[in-house]
Amino acid sequence: MTLPAAGADAPVQCSAKGCRQPATWTLHWSNPRIHTGTRRKTWLACDTHRDTLAAFLEARDFLRTVTPFPPPPENP
Ligand SMILES: [Zn+2]
Repeated sequence: MTLPAAGADAPVQCSAKGCRQPATWTLHWSNPRIHTGTRRKTWLACDTHRDTLAAFLEARDFLRTVTPFPPPPENP
């Protein structure tokens, strides 16, 4: 299973349970006990849930970075 790419037909929703809002943030995280090296997991979050999801990950020391979703275009 992979995350839908930006621009895919399916709406990209927040990862919070029961939330149907479109995602506006990507939370990159890893669990050092499970994910070795530079492997990262990602959650998508709406504006409302960005803080709650980030706090959940931060409390476990899993959070790495938070970036806008979809990512801004690279320099053309
Ligand atoms: Zn949400």
